[in-house]
Amino acid sequence: MTVIEVNGLGKRYGDHVAVDEVSFSVAEGEIFGVLGPNGAGKTTTVECIAGLRVPDSGTIRVLGLDPWRDDAALRRVLGVQLQDSRLPERMTVGEAVALHASFHPDPADGDALLERLGLARMRGTRFGALSGGQQQRLAIVLALIGRPRIAVLDELTTGLDPQSRRSTWELVEQIRADGVTIVLVTHFMEEAERLCDRLALLDAGRVVAIDTPSGLVERARPPQVIRFRPSGPVSDGVLRALPGVTAVARRHGLVEITGTGDVLAAVTAELAQRRIVAAELRITQARLDDAFVALTGKAAR
Ligand code: ATP
Repeated sequence: MTVIEVNGLGKRYGDHVAVDEVSFSVAEGEIFGVLGPNGAGKTTTVECIAGLRVPDSGTIRVLGLDPWRDDAALRRVLGVQLQDSRLPERMTVGEAVALHASFHPDPADGDALLERLGLARMRGTRFGALSGGQQQRLAIVLALIGRPRIAVLDELTTGLDPQSRRSTWELVEQIRADGVTIVLVTHFMEEAERLCDRLALLDAGRVVAIDTPSGLVERARPPQVIRFRPSGPVSDGVLRALPGVTAVARRHGLVEITGTGDVLAAVTAELAQRRIVAAELRITQARLDDAFVALTGKAAR
């Protein structure tokens, strides 16, 4: 079942086109990633979905609701954690949770959520005294307090150390296991690869591709590098003639083959036929960040 439908979304700020003809849909239970370089229009897109900005063109439906017109009904089904969400410095964790719970007719158990996010002992602590990671986790509690069916999480792990980032990922997986659909804005490739079922890759306000992380890698066809020490002689000419091979080099007795597609299968079949064993075999597999660069021409952060 489709829970979010974005069709031809457009948004400008003055003369600047921030989002241009963006379309995608999100299925119930998915972790859907919105990925792209700085200024790609990711935040603007999710803010339109969350009813926080009015689109200039296009339509958005969230569980059948128009986020801008049906704002009150949307709040009951969609929770949002925004990039740099700030609370008053002097507000305590407990006060923030109680305040946000009061916005909802049937809020979740705030204490249980704080417990789950490792903030149970911070109830009396003021927002300003929390660490960056604790502030992020509180923002997640507040996004979930209304028992949303959809959670929008923007740059969730930016500024967190690697360990907190990993525990936040586990948390996102648990939230999804509870049946919540998640829209995740991120610029971390590892995060997108680990968490997202599908991704929309945005660049300069437009959708470049929508696919699974491995589908995006496949689509961009970034080169693979295969290195090995052959047990017997095989000429560069033979290797170069194999399907998918784009370059062959030799370094310190190792053969280094660069290629795309099924190059690994072609190389191993050829070696087997010649009864050559590939010792010290290493394959550098393309990852999502290679695909990102190939599809946008920009380096991933
Ligand atoms: P980042 O990863 O840097 O947060 P993003 O992909 O989330 O980027 P947006 O924040 O949606 O991108 O911004 C898209 C473009 O619109 C950027 O060029 C940004 O500078 C511009 N922009 C965003 N908000 C405003 C605003 N309120 N007024 C003017 N321009 C804006």
